[in-house]
Amino acid sequence: MPKRVYDQTPLHRIKPDWDLILNGEAWEIERGIDFSCTIRTFRVNLHNQCKRKDLSYKSHIKAGDENVLYVQVFPLSIEQCTCGKDSLFNEKTKQYIGCCFDCMPF
Ligand SMILES: [Zn+2]
Repeated sequence: MPKRVYDQTPLHRIKPDWDLILNGEAWEIERGIDFSCTIRTFRVNLHNQCKRKDLSYKSHIKAGDENVLYVQVFPLSIEQCTCGKDSLFNEKTKQYIGCCFDCMPF
């Protein structure tokens, strides 16, 4: 006979707050608090979210803690950084990433 599961904690799925994560600010997000899937899956989801909204992103795993990810999202094709300098150009995607080197958060 199967046992009824009372404590759902290990199965609980945390839905990322995409409105916040995609708002253009730099975020530190942690697995188990801000999302429950693997970092790898989260990055795939982030990629898809950005693609759907014509956004570009940078993400970076925290040194020494592979459950923490730094994320910042940019609009595509912004040629000028908010500081007034030229935005960096991504040769691979042929898009400006919306930020200059000096203003990169990580
Ligand atoms: Zn700048």
